[in-house]
Amino acid sequence: MKNPLNIFKLIFLTIIVSCNSNKQKVDFTSENFNLEEFKTRIATLASDEFQGRFPGTIGEKKTIQYLEEQFKQIGAKPGNGNSYFQEVPLLKITSDQTTKLQLSKGAETLILNFSDDFIGGTPQPVENIEISKSNLVFVGYGINAPEFNWNDYKDIDVKGKVVLALVNDPGFRDSTLFKGKNMTYYGRWIYKYEEAARQGAAGIILVHETEAASYPWGVVQNSWSGTRFYLADNTVTKSGLKLQGWLTNEAAHRVFKIAGLDYDQQLKTASTRGFTSVDMKLSTSINFKNKVEYIRSNNVLALIPGTDLANEYIIYTGHWDHFGINSKLKGDSILNGALDNATGTAALIQLAENFSNLKVKPKRSIVFMAITCEEQGLLGSEYYAENPIFPLNKTIAVINMDALNIFGKTKDMTISGYGFSELDDYAIEILKEHNRYAAPDPSPERGGYYRSDHFSFSKVGIPSINMSFGVDNIEHGKQWSFDTMSKWISGNYHKPTDNYEPNIWKFDGMVEDIMVYFELGYKLGMTDKYPNWREGALYKAKRDEMMKQ
Ligand SMILES: [Zn+2]
Repeated sequence: MKNPLNIFKLIFLTIIVSCNSNKQKVDFTSENFNLEEFKTRIATLASDEFQGRFPGTIGEKKTIQYLEEQFKQIGAKPGNGNSYFQEVPLLKITSDQTTKLQLSKGAETLILNFSDDFIGGTPQPVENIEISKSNLVFVGYGINAPEFNWNDYKDIDVKGKVVLALVNDPGFRDSTLFKGKNMTYYGRWIYKYEEAARQGAAGIILVHETEAASYPWGVVQNSWSGTRFYLADNTVTKSGLKLQGWLTNEAAHRVFKIAGLDYDQQLKTASTRGFTSVDMKLSTSINFKNKVEYIRSNNVLALIPGTDLANEYIIYTGHWDHFGINSKLKGDSILNGALDNATGTAALIQLAENFSNLKVKPKRSIVFMAITCEEQGLLGSEYYAENPIFPLNKTIAVINMDALNIFGKTKDMTISGYGFSELDDYAIEILKEHNRYAAPDPSPERGGYYRSDHFSFSKVGIPSINMSFGVDNIEHGKQWSFDTMSKWISGNYHKPTDNYEPNIWKFDGMVEDIMVYFELGYKLGMTDKYPNWREGALYKAKRDEMMKQ
């Protein structure tokens, strides 16, 4: 690309024309998207100086100060009264990583090592955790889902016991169960931990499978390497659940073996209707020490006030946090999180700038929210949804950006949870105007819909959309995209190699996608309609209820 600016002029020209045809004037030009400045923002957020943007560290301090500075500079107002910050109170628990998990049957004992065989910690704010000779129960997928007429906990009392559960949901192996390959919320580890807590279990250990989890063991290791965060006030912490962890697939095979059970057979049975949980007759023991701290992290919020409907809000979200430094790694130990999610965070600033530069602002107010602790289980967004700054029934829509397109222009953009809400229609129309199209998530078994911040808003009823980069690459086609992305995921996802690579990344597709995000927020900001969930969507009843108020 010799002169990128020309290409961007073309893009903006298209936007102006298409918006004119809607009788709406969007008066921005190519000067409003300074690619070099945008790149600098990604580079800054992903720099070693920001230390992998881990909540509660100097990395957070640098990140949120930078965001505040940037928002101020471009003329976006503070999003929380006079402040750009919303404090998020967190429990930070660092578990000892030299512990061993011991399982025995009769004279036979299996000792599993931390990190190589299993990984885990506790959600309890206590210094010592001890589980002594608890029974181990294989609970299949560990799901209690009345609407699918499925309960892995029926007829078995797991109080005080440790449960062993599979990842994903039964639809992963049998397309007639649940929603087939479309992973439901029941397939997420967060749900499984919560359910085990509700059932009164003393511990839960998930069996890792690369395909069903959609990420390799290394990702589990990096995500659970000792320190975990919890909202100071949450279900799991208030329960009796002392241990939450993961087992490697190889270790799981050994565990089933000493229990005298065949792993593959059990896997099959667990994916069949009528499965009943199995007492493995293994006694399970573990003890470890924890360092418990109470810390405060921050969501960062900026606002471009609307005009006629200024007390209604469109919220753009993107998580600023990543995994910080993993001191156990040799060589490069900083997880810079360039794609995940310095790109989305830089896009928040970019969009705020574009809206700030509009001479005529949208009717509704536009909020830009950089969220903390997404990587710790969507904690920052969950906290916001429970402690909203803008009334939930005045929050019209949430548009989430988590990892933008670095692979070049695509004809499509994908929507995870495609068909859930009427927000899709807005996105579809905008893409159409650019001769592009919206596509459903090509890998719904990865459960993408439940894996980023928009989901915390969905859970409380707010229509949210998680639009992501397309796979229909203009230059190379779809298969190339799938191959390239899966190579990227196995090589870089949640690893120190997720670095900013200005010479490898392509920015043309990313810029086009950001313009779609812009137009989506703009369109929602200009209408006085209230897009809702579609009939049958999980959270429609909640939305309908709050909109009566
Ligand atoms: Zn992310």
